[in-house]
Order: sequence, then structure tokens, then C-alpha cells
Amino acid sequence: MTHRVTLIPGDGIGPEVCAAARRALEATGVPFEWDLQDIGAESYAREGPPLLERTIASVRERGLALKGPTATPAGKGFRSLNIALRNELDLYAGIRPSKHYPGVRTPFPGADVVVVRMNLEDLYAGIEFAPDEDAAQTLRELVRETRGVEISPAAGISLKPLSGPASARVALRAFEYARANERRKVTAVHKATVMRHTDGVFLAACREVAAGFPDIEFDDRLVDNVCHQLVSHPEECDVLLAPIMYGDILSDVAAGLVGGLGMAPGANVGDDAAVFEAVHGSAPRRAGQNRANPFALMLSGVLLLRHVGEEDAAARLEAAIAAVIADDRVTYDLKASRDDPTAASTSEVTDAVIAGLSP
Ligand code: NAD
Repeated sequence: MTHRVTLIPGDGIGPEVCAAARRALEATGVPFEWDLQDIGAESYAREGPPLLERTIASVRERGLALKGPTATPAGKGFRSLNIALRNELDLYAGIRPSKHYPGVRTPFPGADVVVVRMNLEDLYAGIEFAPDEDAAQTLRELVRETRGVEISPAAGISLKPLSGPASARVALRAFEYARANERRKVTAVHKATVMRHTDGVFLAACREVAAGFPDIEFDDRLVDNVCHQLVSHPEECDVLLAPIMYGDILSDVAAGLVGGLGMAPGANVGDDAAVFEAVHGSAPRRAGQNRANPFALMLSGVLLLRHVGEEDAAARLEAAIAAVIADDRVTYDLKASRDDPTAASTSEVTDAVIAGLSP
């Protein structure tokens, strides 16, 4: 069966790693039909919202996308296209595995952690108020009246909405993922000691869902404690289930354990669509140099193959990537020194993976 996938190259190193992942996926022999949607910042600046709408329509129709990183200006300009895609397509769960492959230099050989995070709600809901807005003034008055707390007129305000039903459906995904992938334990990560009506609600929902999975161990931990555990005893972490902001930070920490952002794949999944993309961003300083590590997006391709039931091709592609890593034919970011002249280019790494793919 031909898989119809929206291909979003994105910005910076996006087009290079996307081309590499596409070549590797095609080399597995699985048939793909790609619909190219160039949603990068430059194209967006030129075309604006219609481009986003077209891209969303394509992913909605196909139910699948492979996406490079898209750049977001900090503090000004348009809002994140990623967040728009996730919201519009209701991609409510982010699944981010960080697995150590032998040959990658790390003090934590064998680290194997999956962060499942809420993609919607929480502090990234984008509900923000500038200090001088009328609405901020209304909020300050409301907080004064109802809580007796004075918010400084110089303070911006971000809201953190977090609901039980939204937490429960991501928790369900995390447990289903754990069961399907033979994981031992799910840990809910929170700060419910401080944020009872948000993180507390999240934790209660996770506990309720956990009761339906007696075959999978469940516990919960404070987010600061999990950060410490990740960089001291990562073997104690298995599937970490978290609201979006903690999940965002934890998945970068987890990526650091297994060789860095160039090794961290991801999937954003909903009930009707899934977008596969690396954890990393557009790395603008590396763009156009044929130096970026394509493994994170190739491994996102492995997740895509598993998602559509192409288990054999997924296993072959993952094994080919692992073999190239074991041979140290890797990009600069996986070398002991970033200036190592033996570092391979993006296209050399891709050629090596394709050459090593078993039929
Ligand atoms: P980044 O991930 O782009 O870069 C962080 C560091 O990691 C840099 O040193 C970079 O060179 C390195 N790096 C990242 N990916 C690499 C790869 N594949 N190979 C080798 N080195 C790699 O993070 P940033 O600098 O914080 O963000 C840059 C832009 O990307 C911002 O506009 C941000 O909004 C965007 N971003 C997009 C996504 C996404 O589309 N999913 C995710 C994160 C950041």
C-alpha cells in the first residue's frame, strides 16, 4: 500500500534533513506519495495564513506528515506555526523517545527514555497579556478581589489552563504506547504540590487512567526531581508523562543523554492525524552546509513506519542507522570534538544508511 504523506521541509537545516529522511524512507522499499507543503518562515512571510490553511488541509486529508523544523521569531512577529498545526489538527500527544545507540559518546550508555507530553493546553496555550493591555488590568483587579494578591502593573501574564479530560486522553496514549512497546513503567511528572488546580488535576487524571493498566507500573514524581534523576540515574526513568512545558524541557534533557538533539525523534499524534518531526529546531547557523545530523528526522521516519504498520521496514531502517553509528560514520555533533575533520556530511551519512539497508 502506498502511504500518502505531507512533506514539510521547514526552515534552516529542515530541507537538508527532510531530504535525507525522505531518501532513507524511500530506500526501505515502502511506497510513498509525497505532497510537498513548504511552510517555512520565508514562505509564510510571503504568503501568510493561506499557506498554513493549505498545509493543514493536506495533513488532514492524508492523516500523515513528515516535518522539518520551522523557525519562530522570539517575542515578536507571527506565533509558532508548530503550535498552530498541533492545535488545528488536534495533535494532542507528543511522543519523544530518546534511546542510546552503541557508539554514541555519553556517560549514560543504555539510556532509553520516552517522554509523552501534552501538546495542547498548559502554559503553551498562548493565552498571554502584555502589562499595559486593558485585559491585563481586568485580570489584576480580579486577582486582587478574589485572592487578595497584587500583581505588579509591570508584569505580563500567561495563563496555564490544564483540564482533566485533556490530561486523560494523553495519559491513555502514554499507557497504550507503553503497552504496545513493552515498556515497564509510566511516571506522571508534575508540580502538583504548588499548582493544585492544574498539575493536581493532571495527576488525578493520570492516576485514573493508570488504574485501567494493571500490567504497567505507575508512579508520579515532581518535575525537579525527575530532572535530577534523568542526569544521575536515567535507567530509573522509562515513560515520562508530562504537561507540555515540563515535557518540552525533559525531552531536551533526555536527548542530551543519548547524544544530543541530532538523535531525538518525535511524533505529534491525534485521533485523526500524526505529524512526525525531530525534537530539534532549525539550527539556523548550520543551514545550507550539508553538516546537520539527519538521524533525528530519520528516526522520526522510523516512528512513522511503525505508526502505519510497516514494522519490518522500521526495524531495517533503525538497524541501518545503528550500524552507521557503530561505525562512527557520523556528523560533527556526534564526534568527540566538533572540529573533527573525519565528521561525515549529511549526505554521506544518508548514503551510508541507504547502502546498509537490508532488503
Ligand atoms: P535548535 O534545535 O535549532 O538548535 C540548538 C543547538 O542544537 C544548536 O547548536 C544547533 O546547531 C544544534 N542542532 C540542532 N539540531 C541539530 C542537528 N540535526 N544536527 C546538528 N546539530 C543540531 O534550537 P534553537 O536554536 O533554540 O531554535 C532555532 C529555531 O528553531 C527557533 O526559531 C525555534 O523556534 C525553532 N524550533 C522549531 C522546532 C520545530 O519546528 N519543531 C523545535 C524547536 C525549535
